[in-house]
Amino acid sequence: MRHSHAIVNIITLYHKKVRTVNEKFVLRHVKRVSGEEIDIEIENGKIAGITSAGEGCGAHVVDGCGAYVSSGWIDMHVHAFPEFDPYGDEMDEIGVKLGVTTIVDAGSCGADRISELAAHREQAKTRVYAFLNISRIGLVRIDELSNLEWLDRELVKQSVQAHSDFIVGLKARISRSVVGASGIEPLRIARELSYDTGMPLMVHIGSGPPDIREVISLLQRNDVITHYLNGKKNNLFDAEGRPLQEFSDAIGRGIHLDVGHGTASFSFKVAEAAKQHGIGLHTISTDIYRGNRLNGPVFSMGNVLSKFLYLGYSLEETIAAVTTHAAAWLGKPELGRIQVGDRANLTLFTLDNKTVELIDSEGELRVTNQVIEAKGVIVDGEFIECEVRS
Ligand SMILES: [Zn+2]
Repeated sequence: MRHSHAIVNIITLYHKKVRTVNEKFVLRHVKRVSGEEIDIEIENGKIAGITSAGEGCGAHVVDGCGAYVSSGWIDMHVHAFPEFDPYGDEMDEIGVKLGVTTIVDAGSCGADRISELAAHREQAKTRVYAFLNISRIGLVRIDELSNLEWLDRELVKQSVQAHSDFIVGLKARISRSVVGASGIEPLRIARELSYDTGMPLMVHIGSGPPDIREVISLLQRNDVITHYLNGKKNNLFDAEGRPLQEFSDAIGRGIHLDVGHGTASFSFKVAEAAKQHGIGLHTISTDIYRGNRLNGPVFSMGNVLSKFLYLGYSLEETIAAVTTHAAAWLGKPELGRIQVGDRANLTLFTLDNKTVELIDSEGELRVTNQVIEAKGVIVDGEFIECEVRS
């Protein structure tokens, strides 16, 4: 398609024409996911105007060449603390360079290191929020809830208070290898901490024990289940691929479903069952960190989004899962819209017709003919080119 090479022109044109980020420029001929073609005028880092394609005004014109534009993508589950291994990465490598302008670190840090994570974001062009791990040690080791002494309630409350503009929820990883002999107790404590702090929970699910029914029964409206499409034994579907009754009940209570693809937590078979049973698509997130970015099966947000297109979700539904839905959960609707007066927070991407193999966390392959590729983002008026491998 003509997009791919033409997008390169956006980048060179931008750098040639827009010398400072404060100069007014028009992003000409871009397309909303609805298909509507528009120009977007950007000045002083803000959206100054939105017009029909070809009608925008400004000192400089940057040709968008018909690429798609959405509000900047939001990834609700990443690991953005660079010092941690394996679950860590550089913020901009998993953010703006992949077309994602807002990332939410999913509990890499507990009370011991959350201030360091907060400090790291000062150097990043990507906007960063975090779930606070209820274990003070966070992912310095991967069985962080196996010893209840690491669960210090006072420290959790102090951290939430100290970083109220940064922390958006509490993270509890409730699966066998994380909790060890602690069983369901860490989740009970998390529930109490949620009441005490007013913060919703993000709960990672996986292999049992604890039994998944026991886990989801403790979750309430606005809590997040991440990894809900995992293909492990203790998942949310029965052997015939039907959602468990407890899962349907939890959805009825208003629980938020988050993909959290990751190395081990996204199964095409489960995702196909979820679609077949009409389970709503809330947020698509990657659970990305160095290893699964470089070696797969995650690679990039674009790659994960392409999997949902393959599953039969429309482009609108797929992009809503990384824009409006995520922004609404965060209580920051401005991050999910393109509106005059807002900070310019945009992702430019293409939908290319090419044949590509997609791989899930179980090693299962699917062949698709349509892929979403992030090409660039505009953050506070600055254009940043994406560097996507696929
Ligand atoms: Zn994770």
